[in-house]
Amino acid sequence: MRILLTNDDGYKAPGIQALYEQFRQHHEVIMVAPNGERSAVGHGITINEPLRMRQIRQDGESFIYAVDGKPADCVKLSLFDIYDTPPDLVISGINAGSNTGVNIHYSGTAGAAREAALNGLLALAVSIKIGSVMDFEGMAGYTETVAEKVLQKGLPRHTFLNINAPSGLIRSVKGVRLTCQTMENISTQFDKREDPRGRSYFWYGNMPPAGKMKISDDAAINEGFISITPLQCDITDYNVLKELEIDIGQF
Ligand code: MN
Repeated sequence: MRILLTNDDGYKAPGIQALYEQFRQHHEVIMVAPNGERSAVGHGITINEPLRMRQIRQDGESFIYAVDGKPADCVKLSLFDIYDTPPDLVISGINAGSNTGVNIHYSGTAGAAREAALNGLLALAVSIKIGSVMDFEGMAGYTETVAEKVLQKGLPRHTFLNINAPSGLIRSVKGVRLTCQTMENISTQFDKREDPRGRSYFWYGNMPPAGKMKISDDAAINEGFISITPLQCDITDYNVLKELEIDIGQF
């Protein structure tokens, strides 16, 4: 199959390189990724500057391109300028650092997968929790298993999968859990420090309290499981929409 790889850590990052080496053994792979780190840029796109795309490598049927933009730019640009017919699957990652719960909203990894889903394509966002051992090679292998299943069975239009792994060796995980996105891991913390001239500066701290929701993405990876959460692009609250339609007189 034809696979587009992207990420928010840049084309040189070990996570996307592991996916490239894994998938190009059996598939036609094109990597279009930022030319450097773009973590936490969410689903942002570049509208006030030109975008440039540079071919870095060719390995037979597989290519690597670097873009001086954001992850969602990479997806848009590849669909516009590289593909005559869209790829069968888009994989964003493997991100160094989990993308669970509220962090999905800040994540460039998830932003790129959402951009693919908005374009009607099958898409996966893949991340590993930060730790002393982050098994990108093992996770690339598992991602291929998921990719083959998704290509076989499909997903509802505009839905994509957000996959998170715990740190440590992938062959040692306890299993796979289907989960929902927690809303409990919002971080409000900054480190407040002082620069050499006595002025304060702030550094975002990602130290959320442990959540209580047991079926969540965060709980799964904290307990040693791989988490798979289906996410949708349409963020309308249909329950409230129904209530509003009943109470429309109030407006
Ligand atoms: Mn990242």
